[in-house]
Amino acid sequence: MRIVFLGAPGSGKGTQAQRLMAEFKLPQISTGDLLREAVKAGTALGKRARAAMDAGELVTDDIVLGIIAERLAQPDCAHGFILDGFPRNLSQARELEPVLQNIGQSLDAAVLLNVDLDILMKRLTGRRTCSKTGKLLNVYFSPQAEIDACLAAGGELIQRADDNEATIANRLKVYREQTEPLIDYYSRSGLLKTIGGEGDMQDVYARLTGALGLC
Ligand code: ADP
Repeated sequence: MRIVFLGAPGSGKGTQAQRLMAEFKLPQISTGDLLREAVKAGTALGKRARAAMDAGELVTDDIVLGIIAERLAQPDCAHGFILDGFPRNLSQARELEPVLQNIGQSLDAAVLLNVDLDILMKRLTGRRTCSKTGKLLNVYFSPQAEIDACLAAGGELIQRADDNEATIANRLKVYREQTEPLIDYYSRSGLLKTIGGEGDMQDVYARLTGALGLC
């Protein structure tokens, strides 16, 4: 299975991709995670990427394509992968094709997770990570007991640097202007599968695996 995940920030791409990864042993390749690691490690690449990420803009295509080409060439991608957050504009989608050709592969599906704007805003502004366990929580949606358990264990609720309102608004604008055209791009090539991304995580996962013919 070679899959691309499309969807607005907060649509749940990362969460669903992680479940697929765990169940089907497919590597999940998140450009956002790879870039955040580079920023944290203070590499030259991370330094170049940081300002764009903090502003909610896209990092330049050359940086992201370099990361992706290197990652896809690793042996664990030989039998499939999930791309989460890449491609994010038309030129990245076009550039992906020769990268895949070089390793003798092609995409099986592009999955779009559809979520209404008001829900996206709550998911993003409310998103926190427990500093103790790494568990993802949401101050609007998580059961109070889970939030209390993090605090009781001495954890802090950490907000991602780009999850503040100004940056979120820009990430959504960038999504509409640059990433949404990919829906048409993958629809034309017959690869698009649209999934309702609202409601319970388990239900979304069931719709996803159903649409991919995995259950
Ligand atoms: P989200 O989908 O929630 O916005 P990600 O973790 O996928 O978050 O990405 C965070 C940030 O990393 C983006 O706002 C952007 O600055 C950068 N980024 C991630 N993937 C790409 C990409 N394919 N092209 C350019 N920038 C990217």
